[in-house]
Amino acid sequence: MAVRAAVLPAIGAPLEITEIDLPDPGPGQVRVRLAAAGVCHSDLSLSDGTMRLPLPAVLGHEGAGTVVAVGEGVDHLAPGAGVILNWAPSCGNCHPCTLGEVWLCVNALNGAAEVYARTKDGTGLHPGLNVAAFAEETVVPASCVLPLPDGIPLTDAALLGCAVLTGYGAVHHSARVRPGETVAVFGVGGVGLATLQAARIAGASTIVAVDVSPEKEDLARAAGATEYLVASERTPREIRALTGKQGVDVAVECVGRAVTIRTAWESTRRGGRTTVVGIGGKDQQVTFNALEIFHWGRTLAGCVYGNCDPARDLPVLADHVRAGRLDLTALVTERITLEDIPSAFDNMLAGKGGRALVIF
Ligand SMILES: [Zn+2]
Ligand SMILES: [Zn+2]
Repeated sequence: MAVRAAVLPAIGAPLEITEIDLPDPGPGQVRVRLAAAGVCHSDLSLSDGTMRLPLPAVLGHEGAGTVVAVGEGVDHLAPGAGVILNWAPSCGNCHPCTLGEVWLCVNALNGAAEVYARTKDGTGLHPGLNVAAFAEETVVPASCVLPLPDGIPLTDAALLGCAVLTGYGAVHHSARVRPGETVAVFGVGGVGLATLQAARIAGASTIVAVDVSPEKEDLARAAGATEYLVASERTPREIRALTGKQGVDVAVECVGRAVTIRTAWESTRRGGRTTVVGIGGKDQQVTFNALEIFHWGRTLAGCVYGNCDPARDLPVLADHVRAGRLDLTALVTERITLEDIPSAFDNMLAGKGGRALVIF
């Protein structure tokens, strides 16, 4: 069956919005009709080669939709069921999985090596980060879908699959923000906005949003920021001034650049914690001298997919949404079509807006 999709032919090439041939679901697979898909910075990182996966591929990994068909052996899902795509399924058997660190599953991206669909001229297509959500429909292993929680609209639910899990997990699982602590969030895109909301939910007192753009202040404040700073070399000093000369307890870096990681670390108090969720390239070298590492007693932590177990965390997030503590629509600054994804990439590169959401 033919469906429209956004295909990345090669690193650095423009996305092609074109018809592809999608097969029926095989054993253990599910076919999903997308309702919405968020445009995430990782899609851009795949298209510019910062992250590498087999190509050509259909991008998109943050989505939700409706099951339209199931393959042999899939008994727990039926056509008509609402689902959230999970781009990082865990195998349950590898070393991290046996430790319960399913977000580090060594087999999570095995599916990216498979050919799951074909172009009209027969070229094999890979499913990007497993789920190929930039398409009207996709075929994924049943392990890549999670049930839609009650009371959450499908289009909003798409955001739960990457941005919200990542931002929530950075605050709750990685930095473990406690009530009354002070938090600074660097980068006010989709993940940054989710992180600000998560800091508010955690009961943080002062929440500082930092971005290179002066235009995101209203967005940031609506998401929970109590202070807004335009990034500069004065940022650590300004943050100390806002926190009784101490620096914040927790910084979350959502950009993935050396200078921002360094600034985030310098903005924390002695003993403070910095969590990096931004994905940068190998050229981004962060330097520390040995004395400052000792003197400041700070920690710097990497964070993959918010250190989340989606099966455990999605129901918790759904509770926050239903109780009005987590506002998914506030993350979305643009509702677009498949054809608009290239311009959404341009906006991301220019640091504009929060999440662009493709509505099918
Ligand atoms: Zn993502
Ligand atoms: Zn595993």
